[in-house]
Amino acid sequence: MPNHKYALVCGAGGFIGGHLVKRLKKEGFWVRGIDLKQHDYSKLPADDFIIGDLRDPVICKNILDKPFDQVYQLAADMGGAGYIFTGEHDADVMHNSASINLNMSYYSQKAGVKKIFYSSSACMYPAYNQEDPDNPKLSEDSAYPAAPDSEYGWEKLFSERLYLSFQRNYGLNVRIARFHNIFGPEGTWTGGREKSPAAMCRKVAEAKDGGEIEVWGDGKQTRSFLYIDECLEAVRRLVDSDFTGPVNIGSEEMVTINRLAEIAMEVAGKKLSIKHIPGPLGVRGRNSDNHLIKQKLGWAPSQPLKVGMEKTYKWISEQVEKAKAAALAR
Ligand code: NAD
Repeated sequence: MPNHKYALVCGAGGFIGGHLVKRLKKEGFWVRGIDLKQHDYSKLPADDFIIGDLRDPVICKNILDKPFDQVYQLAADMGGAGYIFTGEHDADVMHNSASINLNMSYYSQKAGVKKIFYSSSACMYPAYNQEDPDNPKLSEDSAYPAAPDSEYGWEKLFSERLYLSFQRNYGLNVRIARFHNIFGPEGTWTGGREKSPAAMCRKVAEAKDGGEIEVWGDGKQTRSFLYIDECLEAVRRLVDSDFTGPVNIGSEEMVTINRLAEIAMEVAGKKLSIKHIPGPLGVRGRNSDNHLIKQKLGWAPSQPLKVGMEKTYKWISEQVEKAKAAALAR
């Protein structure tokens, strides 16, 4: 019997899943990935990569045919504000993601999976605590009375409860994190599903020095952003701990969207003006509250936002150049 641990990454063709596969391989795991698609930007070092639809119960049953020590359930129908806050994708978001979680909780328990990690989101927190851009409240115990501002958030809340029910009734060993805006290279950077750090980097990379970029709303809405490597460190600590969660995994360095745009300009060395245009916005203020994770796991981000933005800008500006070259070649 080989001496390694088995991990399954659901959503391995996505941004966080792809980085997680690489990290687990470095740690010596045997890794199976599953996704609807291959990873868009990287050849992943997974031992086994299955193209499959996790809404299909038969697929979920079949992919659990190894003695998995750890399952990471990251697959979801999701995107940035341009995808989840317009209302146009609500039925798909709820049905697709809930189906995946209904299948994965049930079959993981049946298959005797030792631990399952579920990625929830800060979007499950009540909108009424996120109206003041300077003073949002997102401690883990502020989740109820529930009032997420999107169907995406409601599905996350439902699925948190689903996994916790399987833990309570069937002893499924569950870990739950609420991610707050994770960003970095090799994530969606164009096409409407990208998040704001990637969108800012792309807009700045595409703009001529002295030109202009567009920002949705007045840009005074606040958010915090966590670099992917920091996120994975927190996830791995959570999974290796005895703490179930749900726990926030995010940064407490809250910035306005205007400031985020300025950071992108600073790392690019470009001076641009900002034009505010109407667009989907989400809540007014959001910041991670890291008291619980510090207390339980001794974890906090190790680097400021700007360092992660430098790495992300470098990668996105390369993608922009490649896309320009490809368009010229056509
Ligand atoms: P992503 O969209 O890059 O990755 C999700 C992956 O799931 C995609 O590759 C997609 O193809 C796959 N998928 C969707 N439906 C599927 C299906 N039916 N069967 C198989 N695969 C399917 O997103 P991400 O940023 O890597 O996020 C990963 C998880 O973290 C998601 O659950 C997301 O809701 C959660 N999350 C992310 C953030 C963030 O800032 N990135 C914040 C909060 C929560």
